[in-house]
Amino acid sequence: MDNCLFCRIAKGEIPSTKVYEDETVLAFRDISPAAPEHVLIIPKAHYDNVLKLDDDALLAKMFAAARTVAKTVGVSENGFRLVINTGRDGGQTVEHLHMHLLGARELGWPPG
Ligand code: AMP
Ligand code: ZN
Repeated sequence: MDNCLFCRIAKGEIPSTKVYEDETVLAFRDISPAAPEHVLIIPKAHYDNVLKLDDDALLAKMFAAARTVAKTVGVSENGFRLVINTGRDGGQTVEHLHMHLLGARELGWPPG
């Protein structure tokens, strides 16, 4: 998708602070962090959101990447939160599937 922000980040057309990358998945720091550690994990291929995903194996790859990212940024001991905002009520603002990894502070529950 030519004018999709996260596709452009995946292609390196827009800079990001990479935390993890493999053939299918990229993880980079959120530009507006909601926690001391806030990393976005995206598939390099474009899917609007999890409802549009037709490759569930990709979710397993995103979770595996999240596990690696958690270790890399140092939150695997105290824990972290993984979030996939989906659609309007889910608060999704970028229409390219992504998982948030949030940590390095005690996160409240339930979210607002
Ligand atoms: P969501 O609201 O779940 O769609 O999350 C989109 C996230 O993308 C937000 O947390 C934004 O802060 C983040 N974001 C937007 N633009 C960029 C960018 N250029 N680099 C990194 N993160 C971004
Ligand atoms: Zn995209």
